[in-house]
Order: sequence, then C-alpha cells, then structure tokens
Amino acid sequence: MPCLFCKIAAGEIPSVKIYEDDAVLAFLDIAPVEKGHTLIISKRVHSEALIETPPDVLAEMTAAAKKIGAAMLKAGWGGFNVVQNNYPDGGQAVPHIHLHIIPRAKGRKTPLAWRSGSAAYADDAERDAIAASIRACL
Ligand code: AMP
Ligand code: ZN
Repeated sequence: MPCLFCKIAAGEIPSVKIYEDDAVLAFLDIAPVEKGHTLIISKRVHSEALIETPPDVLAEMTAAAKKIGAAMLKAGWGGFNVVQNNYPDGGQAVPHIHLHIIPRAKGRKTPLAWRSGSAAYADDAERDAIAASIRACL
C-alpha cells in the first residue's frame, strides 16, 4: 500500500486524530496553515482527486466537514475554510483526495493566505491541546 494517506487511514502511520467514523478519518495537518488545520480522508476508497471520487464518498467527507466545522465554531473560532486541491498543477501534494478544514480566528475577516507550515505549533503539547479542544466540541 504505497499511498501515504491510505497508510494513515490504516493506522500504519501515526496521526493526531480529530474525528473518525466507519467512512472517514480526520487528523491534524503536519504543516498547518492555521493552528487546528485538519484533513479529512476517506477510509473506504483510494482515489486521487475530486473527479475520480464517487459521490457517496464525497458526501461522507462533506458530512464530516460539517461536523468538524461546527465543532471549530463551538470551540471558539469565528469561521473556517474548506479547501480541496486537485492534481499537482492545482497544488495537490498528496494524491489521495482530502478536504482541508482550516479554522479562522474571530475577527480575522481576510481570505485565506496559503503558506504551508506558517502556523507551526509551539510544541506537541500546544498541538495536542488544540486537537483536544476541537474533539471536545464534536
Ligand atoms: P495537498 O497539497 O492538498 O495535497 O495537501 C497535502 C497536505 O498533507 C499538506 O498540507 C501537508 O502538510 C499534509 N501532510 C503531508 N504529510 C502528512 C502527514 N504525515 N500527516 C499529516 N499531514 C500531512
Ligand atoms: Zn490512498
């Protein structure tokens, strides 16, 4: 199984889990654009991008996006962005479809500026506390 996100879905590579059900896994992005930056992947299928992914799988991923977005708002963020990159020319680095759920601070009111890793956590404890704050509001 050569795919990085299939390995994360199978638990073969560790991740900081935010949410999991039979269909999807959500975990923290390793190089966050904002603290709390979360990725949602399907556990049921490997597909590269949007147009190869069955609609029912997209619906499962979107249902998880709604849950996680709602939890981010409940946890105190003011908004969030959903981003989904397609193919290398679209900025997709990992060829297993995923949704980015990016929480935005209250009062931010600016479009998302994509700078990978620009919101690095101070340490693992801060990362784990932020993950726990989202999980607590699911
Ligand atoms: P994309 O450019 O849309 O394919 O996004 C891929 C994302 O996966 C990037 O934001 C990376 O920081 C993130 N990423 C890569 N490897 C890992 C990993 N092992 N655990 C968590 N996130 C990762
Ligand atoms: Zn995969």
